[in-house]
Amino acid sequence: ELHVSDLVVRFPGLERPALDIPTLQLPAGAHVALTGPSGSGKTTLINILTGLDRAPAGRVIWGDTDIGRLGEGARDRWRAGHVGLVMQEFHLFPGLSALENVLLPQRLATFRLAPGRRAEADRLLARVGIERPGQKVETLSRGQMQRVAVARALVARPPILVADEPTASLDADAGAAVAELLAALAREVGATLIVATHDARLIAGMAQVLRLEAGRLVPAGANPAAPAPTHAAVDPAA
Ligand code: ATP
Repeated sequence: ELHVSDLVVRFPGLERPALDIPTLQLPAGAHVALTGPSGSGKTTLINILTGLDRAPAGRVIWGDTDIGRLGEGARDRWRAGHVGLVMQEFHLFPGLSALENVLLPQRLATFRLAPGRRAEADRLLARVGIERPGQKVETLSRGQMQRVAVARALVARPPILVADEPTASLDADAGAAVAELLAALAREVGATLIVATHDARLIAGMAQVLRLEAGRLVPAGANPAAPAPTHAAVDPAA
C-alpha cells in the first residue's frame, strides 16, 4: 500500500516544480500505468517511489515504512528487499548466462544465495519462456533479454515491481509478450505494479492510469480502452 502526500520536487533552473503531488494512494497489488509527455516527471516520480532518490518535501510511505525518513543505507536495504526494477535497456551483464544474470544481484546483495533462490530463478526463467537458462545473454533476442530482466526483477519476490518504458526498445510482438508477463507475474506474486510507458497496448492492459502533466497528476480514469484522454484538465502553462 502506497501513501504519498505533499510531494514537491524542484530542480535548479526549472521554474515550476518538477513534481507537485498533494496526494496519491495505491492499494497493495494495484496495477498502474504512469503516462505523460516527455519532461512531465515520470522518471523523477519513479526514482522517488522506488527510494533511489529521496523526496525533498512530503512523505512517501509504503506499508508502514516512511521511505523518506530512512537514511541512505537503510533506504538501499529497503530497496533491495522491496523493489524489483525493469528498465528500457535491460541492463543485463554480457558474458553471463541468463541464470547468472538473474542471480547476480542476489549474490552481490548477500554474498551467499538465500535458500531457494536458485530454484526460484529456474522456475521464473521457465515461466518467462527462456528455455536454456545456461545460454549467454548476448546471444538472446531483445525480447528474450527483457524477459530475463523480468525474471531477475522478481526472483527475490519484491512486493513492488516497477518498469520504466519496458517495451520501448522492443518490436510490437516482443513488447506485447513482455507487457503480458509483467501483468501476469505481478498478479501471481501479488506485487504492486507501476509501469511508466507511452505504449498504448501496455496502458490498455493496466487497471489504472496515472497521467502526469508538468509535474501534476491529472485525471485519466480507470480501465480506459484507449490511451489517456486528450481533454486532460490541467493547462501545463498555468
Ligand atoms: P521522459 O519521458 O522524457 O523520460 P519524464 O516524464 O520522465 O520525461 P523527468 O525526467 O522526470 O520527465 O523530468 C521532469 C522535469 O525535471 C524535466 O523538466 C527535466 O528537465 C527536469 N529534471 C529532471 N531531472 C533533473 C535534474 N537532475 N536536474 C535538473 N532538472 C531535472
